[in-house]
Amino acid sequence: MPELPEVETIKNELMPHILGRRLTGVTLCWEGIVRKPSVAEFHSRLIGQEITGLGRRGKYLIFNLSSGEALIIHLKMTGSLLLSPATDEPNKFTRAIIHLDNNCQLHFRDPRKFGAMWLVADINSVVRKLGPEPLNENFTPQLLLERLAKRKAPIKALLFDQSLIAGIGNMYADEALFSAGIHPERPGESLSPEEVERLHHSIQEVLWSAIGNKGASVDTYFRPNGKLGTAHFQFQVAHRGGQPCPTCGTPIARLPIRNRGSYFCPNCQAL
Ligand SMILES: [Zn+2]
Repeated sequence: MPELPEVETIKNELMPHILGRRLTGVTLCWEGIVRKPSVAEFHSRLIGQEITGLGRRGKYLIFNLSSGEALIIHLKMTGSLLLSPATDEPNKFTRAIIHLDNNCQLHFRDPRKFGAMWLVADINSVVRKLGPEPLNENFTPQLLLERLAKRKAPIKALLFDQSLIAGIGNMYADEALFSAGIHPERPGESLSPEEVERLHHSIQEVLWSAIGNKGASVDTYFRPNGKLGTAHFQFQVAHRGGQPCPTCGTPIARLPIRNRGSYFCPNCQAL
C-alpha cells in the first residue's frame, strides 16, 4: 500500500506537470471510484477548473482548484496515478482518466478497486480525523509521548492508526520499530520517554530516507512516470521474513498484529 513516502513522491513528481493546468474532462471507467458528490455533479463541477496547488495530508493527495474546491485522491491498497500522453488508451485496471489542457492525461489505475476520489468544498470533511503529520515541525517527541499515553494497544498497531499519526502504514512502522529497537507488541503506554524519543527519530529518519529513494515498490506502487521506487532495497526487516537481521544475524520473524504481517528481529527488538 502506498504510504506517506510514496504519496509524497507522487505529489512531488506530478507537481511540475499539472500545476496551472486546466481540467478539460474526466473519463470514469468505473463510477464507484467517486465517493462524493454524485457522478454528474463531479463532472460538472470539475471540468474547466485550474489546478492551483497540490498537497498531501497523510496518504491523501489534495488537488486545490481555482473554484476553491479540492479534488482529493486516496490510492488505498493498489492505486497508482500515471501521467500519459493524451493518445494513451486505458488498460483493464484504469478506473478514471483526468484530461488536462496540455495534451496530458492522469490515469488512475487500481487493480483492487479500493481507491477513491472526492470533490469537496472543505477538505476537512475527508481528512478531519487524521493525526499529526510526522514530518512537520510540530510533531515532537513530547507530542508522540502524549499521544501514546494510556494507549494499551501494541505500538505497531498505534503507529499505523491514522488518527494517532498520519501517513505511516505497515512497512514504515516495521522499519521505524526496528531502527528504534522496540518490539512491535509493546503496549504504547509502556514506552519510556527515552524509547519514545528514539522512535520519533526513527520514524522521521525512515520516512525521509524513503522519500529520498522515491518510495518502495514492494507490490503495485509506481511513480507517475511509470518507474519504480527503490526504498524497499533499504528495508532492514519489512518484507524480509526468515532473512538474517542486518545487525545480529538472527532470522527476522513475522507476527500478525491486527491482521497485518509485522516483521521484526526477536533479538534486537526483545520484549
Ligand atoms: Zn537483530
